[in-house]
Amino acid sequence: MKLADRTTQIASSPTMKVTATVDRLRRSGVEVIDFGAGEPDFTTPEPVKAAAHLALDQDFTRYTPVPGIADLRHAICERYKADYGVEYQDNEVIVTAGGKQALYNAALTLFGPGDEVITHAPYWPTLTEQIKLADATPVLARTHAEEGFAIRAAAILDAVTPRTRAIIINSPCNPTGALVAESELRAIGEVAARQDLWIVVDLCYEKLIYDPVPHNLPAILVETCRDRTVLCGSASKAYAMTGWRCGWQLGPAAVIAASSAIQSHSTSNVTSITQKAAVEAVHGSQAPTRAMLDEYRKRRDLLHEWITADPRLRCLKPAGAFYMFIDVSDALSVGGFRTSLDFADALLQEARVAVTPGEAFDAPGFIRISYATSMENLREGSTRLLEFVARHAPQAATA
Ligand code: PMP
Repeated sequence: MKLADRTTQIASSPTMKVTATVDRLRRSGVEVIDFGAGEPDFTTPEPVKAAAHLALDQDFTRYTPVPGIADLRHAICERYKADYGVEYQDNEVIVTAGGKQALYNAALTLFGPGDEVITHAPYWPTLTEQIKLADATPVLARTHAEEGFAIRAAAILDAVTPRTRAIIINSPCNPTGALVAESELRAIGEVAARQDLWIVVDLCYEKLIYDPVPHNLPAILVETCRDRTVLCGSASKAYAMTGWRCGWQLGPAAVIAASSAIQSHSTSNVTSITQKAAVEAVHGSQAPTRAMLDEYRKRRDLLHEWITADPRLRCLKPAGAFYMFIDVSDALSVGGFRTSLDFADALLQEARVAVTPGEAFDAPGFIRISYATSMENLREGSTRLLEFVARHAPQAATA
Protein backbone atom coordinates (compact mmCIF):
# COMPACT_ATOMS: atom_id res chain seq x y z
CA MET A 1 0.00 0.00 0.00
CA LYS A 2 1.46 3.35 -1.00
CA LEU A 3 0.94 6.02 1.62
CA ALA A 4 2.21 9.57 1.49
CA ASP A 5 5.93 9.94 2.25
CA ARG A 6 5.22 12.00 5.35
CA THR A 7 3.70 8.97 7.07
CA THR A 8 7.10 7.32 7.10
CA GLN A 9 8.67 10.28 8.89
CA ILE A 10 6.19 10.35 11.74
CA ALA A 11 5.86 8.02 14.70
CA SER A 12 2.56 7.90 16.54
CA SER A 13 2.52 9.41 20.00
CA PRO A 14 4.49 7.13 22.37
CA THR A 15 2.69 8.53 25.40
CA MET A 16 -0.64 7.61 23.82
CA LYS A 17 0.79 4.11 23.25
CA VAL A 18 1.20 3.62 27.00
CA THR A 19 -2.42 4.70 27.49
CA ALA A 20 -3.56 2.19 24.86
CA THR A 21 -1.61 -0.67 26.52
CA VAL A 22 -3.08 0.16 29.93
CA ASP A 23 -6.53 0.24 28.38
CA ARG A 24 -6.02 -3.17 26.75
CA LEU A 25 -4.75 -4.75 29.97
CA ARG A 26 -7.62 -3.32 31.98
CA ARG A 27 -10.18 -4.58 29.49
CA SER A 28 -8.71 -8.06 29.84
CA GLY A 29 -9.27 -7.82 33.60
CA VAL A 30 -5.73 -6.92 34.71
CA GLU A 31 -5.46 -4.26 37.42
CA VAL A 32 -2.83 -1.66 36.50
CA ILE A 33 -1.53 1.45 38.26
CA ASP A 34 -1.29 4.01 35.52
CA PHE A 35 1.52 6.54 35.86
CA GLY A 36 1.56 7.03 32.10
CA ALA A 37 -1.41 9.30 31.49
CA GLY A 38 -0.52 12.95 31.13
CA GLU A 39 -3.89 14.23 32.19
CA PRO A 40 -5.48 15.51 35.37
CA ASP A 41 -7.41 12.95 37.40
CA PHE A 42 -9.65 15.78 38.62
CA THR A 43 -13.08 16.35 37.15
CA THR A 44 -13.88 19.52 35.22
CA PRO A 45 -15.02 22.21 37.70
CA GLU A 46 -18.81 22.33 38.21
CA PRO A 47 -19.36 25.91 36.92
CA VAL A 48 -17.62 24.95 33.68
CA LYS A 49 -19.84 21.92 33.26
CA ALA A 50 -22.90 24.05 34.07
CA ALA A 51 -21.96 26.48 31.29
CA ALA A 52 -21.83 23.56 28.86
CA HIS A 53 -25.25 22.29 30.00
CA LEU A 54 -26.67 25.74 29.48
CA ALA A 55 -25.16 26.00 26.01
CA LEU A 56 -26.78 22.71 25.08
CA ASP A 57 -30.14 23.67 26.57
CA GLN A 58 -29.99 26.90 24.59
CA ASP A 59 -29.25 24.92 21.42
CA PHE A 60 -25.87 26.52 20.98
CA THR A 61 -24.96 23.71 18.63
CA ARG A 62 -24.15 25.33 15.30
CA TYR A 63 -20.95 26.34 13.56
CA THR A 64 -19.21 29.27 15.16
CA PRO A 65 -16.66 31.57 13.52
CA VAL A 66 -13.50 29.55 12.82
CA PRO A 67 -11.27 31.45 15.28
CA GLY A 68 -13.84 31.11 18.05
CA ILE A 69 -16.76 32.98 19.58
CA ALA A 70 -16.08 36.61 20.43
CA ASP A 71 -16.73 36.03 24.15
CA LEU A 72 -14.05 33.39 24.38
CA ARG A 73 -11.46 35.24 22.34
CA HIS A 74 -12.04 38.23 24.55
CA ALA A 75 -11.92 36.16 27.76
CA ILE A 76 -8.56 34.67 26.73
CA CYS A 77 -7.11 38.14 26.08
CA GLU A 78 -8.42 39.29 29.46
CA ARG A 79 -6.90 36.24 31.19
CA TYR A 80 -3.45 36.97 29.75
CA LYS A 81 -3.79 40.61 30.66
CA ALA A 82 -4.70 39.74 34.24
CA ASP A 83 -2.05 37.04 34.60
CA TYR A 84 0.85 38.67 32.74
CA GLY A 85 -0.05 42.28 32.04
CA VAL A 86 0.15 41.78 28.27
CA GLU A 87 -2.29 43.34 25.82
CA TYR A 88 -3.72 41.24 23.02
CA GLN A 89 -6.67 42.25 20.86
CA ASP A 90 -9.43 39.86 19.89
CA ASN A 91 -8.04 39.49 16.34
CA GLU A 92 -4.73 38.32 17.83
CA VAL A 93 -6.17 35.11 19.29
CA ILE A 94 -7.64 31.94 17.79
CA VAL A 95 -9.39 29.16 19.71
CA THR A 96 -8.02 25.73 18.79
CA ALA A 97 -8.73 22.07 19.45
CA GLY A 98 -6.35 21.85 22.38
CA GLY A 99 -2.85 23.22 22.74
CA LYS A 100 -1.88 20.59 20.20
CA GLN A 101 -3.75 22.31 17.39
CA ALA A 102 -2.48 25.71 18.52
CA LEU A 103 1.07 24.40 18.10
CA TYR A 104 0.22 22.67 14.84
CA ASN A 105 -1.38 25.81 13.43
CA ALA A 106 1.78 27.67 14.39
CA ALA A 107 3.97 25.04 12.71
CA LEU A 108 1.97 25.07 9.47
CA THR A 109 1.78 28.85 9.47
CA LEU A 110 5.45 29.55 10.18
CA PHE A 111 7.67 26.62 9.09
CA GLY A 112 8.39 25.16 5.67
CA PRO A 113 10.83 23.10 3.61
CA GLY A 114 14.48 23.85 4.34
CA ASP A 115 13.72 25.52 7.67
CA GLU A 116 15.37 24.48 10.90
CA VAL A 117 13.41 24.77 14.11
CA ILE A 118 15.23 24.57 17.41
CA THR A 119 13.76 23.11 20.55
CA HIS A 120 15.15 21.72 23.78
CA ALA A 121 15.51 18.02 24.61
CA PRO A 122 14.22 15.98 26.42
CA TYR A 123 11.04 17.11 24.69
CA TRP A 124 7.37 16.35 24.34
CA PRO A 125 7.43 14.34 21.08
CA THR A 126 4.55 16.14 19.38
CA LEU A 127 6.71 19.24 19.10
CA THR A 128 9.30 17.58 16.89
CA GLU A 129 6.79 15.53 14.92
CA GLN A 130 4.83 18.67 14.09
CA ILE A 131 8.00 20.36 12.84
CA LYS A 132 8.47 17.41 10.49
CA LEU A 133 4.82 17.50 9.40
CA ALA A 134 5.46 21.10 8.38
CA ASP A 135 8.40 19.82 6.22
CA ALA A 136 10.98 21.51 8.43
CA THR A 137 13.83 19.96 10.39
CA PRO A 138 13.96 19.77 14.20
CA VAL A 139 17.27 20.79 15.77
CA LEU A 140 17.82 19.85 19.40
CA ALA A 141 19.50 21.75 22.21
CA ARG A 142 20.17 19.33 25.06
CA THR A 143 19.28 20.10 28.66
CA HIS A 144 20.96 18.08 31.40
CA ALA A 145 19.81 16.35 34.57
CA GLU A 146 22.89 17.65 36.48
CA GLU A 147 21.69 21.19 35.75
CA GLY A 148 18.10 20.47 36.64
CA PHE A 149 17.32 20.33 32.91
CA ALA A 150 17.69 24.12 32.83
CA ILE A 151 16.79 25.54 29.42
CA ARG A 152 19.80 27.68 28.58
CA ALA A 153 19.85 30.48 26.02
CA ALA A 154 23.47 29.64 25.15
CA ALA A 155 22.62 26.06 24.14
CA ILE A 156 19.70 27.22 22.04
CA LEU A 157 21.51 30.13 20.42
CA ASP A 158 24.54 27.95 19.64
CA ALA A 159 22.25 25.90 17.44
CA VAL A 160 21.16 28.89 15.34
CA THR A 161 22.25 28.72 11.68
CA PRO A 162 21.28 30.78 8.63
CA ARG A 163 18.47 28.26 8.10
CA THR A 164 16.94 28.68 11.56
CA ARG A 165 13.38 29.80 11.29
CA ALA A 166 12.05 29.41 14.81
CA ILE A 167 12.65 28.37 18.39
CA ILE A 168 10.09 26.43 20.39
CA ILE A 169 10.17 26.69 24.17
CA ASN A 170 8.06 24.50 26.44
CA SER A 171 7.96 25.80 29.99
CA PRO A 172 7.00 24.26 32.36
CA CYS A 173 8.49 21.43 30.38
CA ASN A 174 6.99 18.02 29.78
CA PRO A 175 8.72 15.67 30.69
CA THR A 176 11.33 17.38 32.91
CA GLY A 177 9.18 19.83 34.88
CA ALA A 178 11.87 22.50 34.35
CA LEU A 179 11.11 26.18 33.80
CA VAL A 180 13.01 28.53 31.54
CA ALA A 181 14.47 31.39 33.57
CA GLU A 182 13.18 34.81 32.55
CA SER A 183 16.70 36.08 31.89
CA GLU A 184 17.42 33.15 29.56
CA LEU A 185 14.22 33.76 27.63
CA ARG A 186 15.01 37.44 27.34
CA ALA A 187 18.39 36.59 25.79
CA ILE A 188 16.65 34.29 23.31
CA GLY A 189 14.00 36.92 22.56
CA GLU A 190 16.61 39.57 21.84
CA VAL A 191 18.32 37.36 19.29
CA ALA A 192 14.96 36.48 17.74
CA ALA A 193 14.18 40.18 17.34
CA ARG A 194 17.58 40.87 15.74
CA GLN A 195 17.62 37.88 13.44
CA ASP A 196 13.93 37.68 12.58
CA LEU A 197 13.32 34.29 14.16
CA TRP A 198 9.94 33.13 15.43
CA ILE A 199 9.51 32.15 19.05
CA VAL A 200 6.73 29.70 19.79
CA VAL A 201 6.03 29.10 23.46
CA ASP A 202 4.11 26.07 24.65
CA LEU A 203 2.41 27.25 27.84
CA CYS A 204 0.25 24.17 28.28
CA TYR A 205 1.35 23.82 31.95
CA GLU A 206 1.50 27.54 32.74
CA LYS A 207 -0.92 27.19 35.67
CA LEU A 208 1.04 24.35 37.23
CA ILE A 209 4.05 26.03 38.81
CA TYR A 210 4.64 25.08 42.43
CA ASP A 211 6.79 27.80 43.89
CA PRO A 212 6.63 31.57 43.46
CA VAL A 213 9.42 31.78 40.87
CA PRO A 214 9.19 34.59 38.31
CA HIS A 215 7.81 33.11 35.09
CA ASN A 216 6.26 35.94 33.15
CA LEU A 217 7.25 34.63 29.74
CA PRO A 218 4.55 36.51 27.81
CA ALA A 219 5.64 39.90 29.20
CA ILE A 220 9.29 39.26 28.38
CA LEU A 221 8.53 38.28 24.81
CA VAL A 222 6.07 41.11 24.31
CA GLU A 223 8.82 43.48 25.41
CA THR A 224 11.59 41.96 23.34
CA CYS A 225 9.95 40.55 20.20
CA ARG A 226 6.15 40.78 20.28
CA ASP A 227 5.79 40.61 16.50
CA ARG A 228 7.88 37.42 16.36
CA THR A 229 6.08 35.63 19.22
CA VAL A 230 3.34 33.03 19.23
CA LEU A 231 1.96 31.91 22.60
CA CYS A 232 0.15 28.56 22.71
CA GLY A 233 -2.05 27.76 25.69
CA SER A 234 -4.58 25.16 26.71
CA ALA A 235 -7.57 24.58 28.96
CA SER A 236 -6.65 20.90 29.24
CA LYS A 237 -4.40 20.83 32.29
CA ALA A 238 -5.30 24.17 33.90
CA TYR A 239 -9.01 23.39 34.13
CA ALA A 240 -9.02 19.58 33.92
CA MET A 241 -10.58 19.72 30.45
CA THR A 242 -8.47 17.34 28.37
CA GLY A 243 -11.42 15.72 26.61
CA TRP A 244 -13.13 18.99 25.72
CA ARG A 245 -10.34 19.94 23.30
CA CYS A 246 -9.78 23.60 23.85
CA GLY A 247 -6.60 25.61 23.48
CA TRP A 248 -5.56 28.90 21.93
CA GLN A 249 -2.86 30.69 20.04
CA LEU A 250 -1.98 34.34 20.64
CA GLY A 251 0.20 36.22 18.21
CA PRO A 252 0.40 38.94 15.58
CA ALA A 253 -2.88 39.40 13.69
CA ALA A 254 -1.36 38.20 10.41
CA VAL A 255 -0.23 34.93 12.02
CA ILE A 256 -3.64 34.41 13.57
CA ALA A 257 -5.41 35.16 10.28
CA ALA A 258 -3.20 32.65 8.45
CA SER A 259 -3.75 30.04 11.17
CA SER A 260 -7.47 30.66 10.93
CA ALA A 261 -7.37 30.12 7.16
CA ILE A 262 -5.55 26.80 7.68
CA GLN A 263 -7.93 25.76 10.44
CA SER A 264 -10.92 26.72 8.25
CA HIS A 265 -9.91 23.96 5.83
CA SER A 266 -9.21 21.31 8.44
CA THR A 267 -11.26 21.31 11.64
CA SER A 268 -13.08 24.68 11.49
CA ASN A 269 -14.29 25.89 14.87
CA VAL A 270 -13.78 24.15 18.21
CA THR A 271 -16.98 22.46 19.42
CA SER A 272 -19.54 25.18 20.15
CA ILE A 273 -20.42 23.77 23.58
CA THR A 274 -16.79 23.47 24.58
CA GLN A 275 -16.28 27.13 23.74
CA LYS A 276 -19.09 28.22 26.06
CA ALA A 277 -17.64 26.05 28.82
CA ALA A 278 -14.18 27.51 28.21
CA VAL A 279 -15.47 31.07 28.66
CA GLU A 280 -16.46 30.10 32.19
CA ALA A 281 -13.13 28.31 32.79
CA VAL A 282 -10.99 31.21 31.61
CA HIS A 283 -13.12 34.10 32.82
CA GLY A 284 -14.64 32.61 35.99
CA SER A 285 -13.09 31.92 39.37
CA GLN A 286 -9.57 30.48 39.18
CA ALA A 287 -9.99 28.86 42.61
CA PRO A 288 -10.47 25.31 41.24
CA THR A 289 -7.14 25.61 39.42
CA ARG A 290 -5.40 26.75 42.60
CA ALA A 291 -6.95 23.87 44.55
CA MET A 292 -5.67 21.38 41.98
CA LEU A 293 -2.21 22.92 42.12
CA ASP A 294 -2.16 22.56 45.92
CA GLU A 295 -3.06 18.91 45.63
CA TYR A 296 -0.44 18.27 42.93
CA ARG A 297 2.13 19.93 45.16
CA LYS A 298 1.37 17.55 48.06
CA ARG A 299 1.64 14.61 45.72
CA ARG A 300 4.89 15.86 44.25
CA ASP A 301 6.49 16.28 47.66
CA LEU A 302 5.46 12.87 48.98
CA LEU A 303 6.20 11.02 45.77
CA HIS A 304 9.65 12.57 45.62
CA GLU A 305 10.33 11.48 49.19
CA TRP A 306 9.17 7.92 48.51
CA ILE A 307 11.03 7.48 45.23
CA THR A 308 14.33 8.94 46.36
CA ALA A 309 14.39 6.59 49.36
CA ASP A 310 16.18 4.29 46.89
CA PRO A 311 19.45 5.94 45.84
CA ARG A 312 19.26 4.24 42.45
CA LEU A 313 16.20 6.25 41.53
CA ARG A 314 17.47 9.76 41.04
CA CYS A 315 15.13 12.61 40.40
CA LEU A 316 14.66 16.27 41.08
CA LYS A 317 11.55 17.85 42.45
CA PRO A 318 9.89 19.28 39.37
CA ALA A 319 9.24 23.02 39.40
CA GLY A 320 6.16 22.70 37.24
CA ALA A 321 3.78 20.35 35.36
CA PHE A 322 2.96 17.00 37.01
CA TYR A 323 5.71 14.61 36.03
CA MET A 324 8.58 13.07 37.97
CA PHE A 325 11.42 12.39 35.54
CA ILE A 326 13.54 9.66 37.08
CA ASP A 327 17.05 8.64 36.12
CA VAL A 328 16.97 4.83 36.33
CA SER A 329 20.33 4.24 34.65
CA ASP A 330 21.88 2.78 37.83
CA ALA A 331 19.02 0.33 38.21
CA LEU A 332 19.30 -0.56 34.52
CA SER A 333 22.89 -1.66 34.55
CA VAL A 334 22.71 -3.74 37.71
CA GLY A 335 19.25 -5.05 36.93
CA GLY A 336 20.27 -6.43 33.54
CA PHE A 337 17.97 -4.20 31.51
CA ARG A 338 19.32 -2.99 28.20
CA THR A 339 17.17 0.10 28.01
CA SER A 340 14.62 2.10 29.96
CA LEU A 341 12.07 0.80 27.46
CA ASP A 342 12.86 -2.77 28.63
CA PHE A 343 12.69 -1.54 32.22
CA ALA A 344 9.26 0.03 31.66
CA ASP A 345 7.98 -3.10 29.87
CA ALA A 346 9.12 -5.37 32.70
CA LEU A 347 7.67 -3.02 35.30
CA LEU A 348 4.32 -3.22 33.57
CA GLN A 349 4.39 -6.99 33.07
CA GLU A 350 5.63 -7.89 36.54
CA ALA A 351 4.50 -5.12 38.83
CA ARG A 352 1.54 -3.82 36.84
CA VAL A 353 2.76 -0.24 36.95
CA ALA A 354 2.65 1.76 33.70
CA VAL A 355 5.26 4.47 33.23
CA THR A 356 6.49 6.19 30.07
CA PRO A 357 10.04 5.21 29.10
CA GLY A 358 12.49 8.06 28.52
CA GLU A 359 12.95 6.96 24.91
CA ALA A 360 9.58 8.62 24.23
CA PHE A 361 11.19 11.98 25.04
CA ASP A 362 14.60 11.32 23.53
CA ALA A 363 15.99 10.61 26.99
CA PRO A 364 17.01 6.95 27.31
CA GLY A 365 17.88 5.97 30.88
CA PHE A 366 14.87 7.78 32.33
CA ILE A 367 11.27 6.99 33.10
CA ARG A 368 8.46 9.50 33.48
CA ILE A 369 5.84 9.13 36.19
CA SER A 370 2.72 11.25 35.96
CA TYR A 371 1.44 12.14 39.41
CA ALA A 372 -1.89 13.29 38.09
CA THR A 373 -3.40 10.36 39.95
CA SER A 374 -4.64 9.69 43.49
CA MET A 375 -2.33 9.64 46.51
CA GLU A 376 -3.39 6.05 47.09
CA ASN A 377 -2.24 5.08 43.59
CA LEU A 378 1.00 6.98 44.06
CA ARG A 379 1.72 5.18 47.33
CA GLU A 380 0.91 1.75 45.92
CA GLY A 381 2.63 2.32 42.57
CA SER A 382 5.80 3.74 44.09
CA THR A 383 5.96 0.84 46.54
CA ARG A 384 5.72 -1.56 43.63
CA LEU A 385 8.40 0.36 41.74
CA LEU A 386 10.78 0.27 44.72
CA GLU A 387 10.17 -3.45 45.23
CA PHE A 388 10.72 -4.06 41.53
CA VAL A 389 14.06 -2.26 41.60
CA ALA A 390 15.12 -4.04 44.80
CA ARG A 391 14.22 -7.41 43.27
CA HIS A 392 16.14 -6.80 40.05
CA ALA A 393 19.14 -4.99 41.43
CA PRO A 394 19.56 -6.27 45.00
CA GLN A 395 23.36 -5.98 44.99
CA ALA A 396 23.26 -2.21 44.77
CA ALA A 397 20.49 -1.73 47.32
CA THR A 398 22.78 -0.18 49.89
CA ALA A 399 24.69 1.99 47.42
N1 PMP B 1 2.11 20.70 25.25
C1 PMP B 1 2.58 19.78 26.09
C2 PMP B 1 3.99 19.92 26.58
C3 PMP B 1 1.78 18.71 26.49
O1 PMP B 1 2.27 17.81 27.34
C4 PMP B 1 0.47 18.61 25.98
C5 PMP B 1 -0.44 17.48 26.35
N2 PMP B 1 0.11 16.34 26.81
C6 PMP B 1 0.03 19.61 25.11
C7 PMP B 1 0.87 20.64 24.76
C8 PMP B 1 -1.31 19.62 24.46
O2 PMP B 1 -2.39 19.27 25.20
P1 PMP B 1 -3.84 19.61 24.69
O3 PMP B 1 -3.86 19.41 23.21
O4 PMP B 1 -4.73 18.65 25.40
O5 PMP B 1 -4.09 21.03 25.06
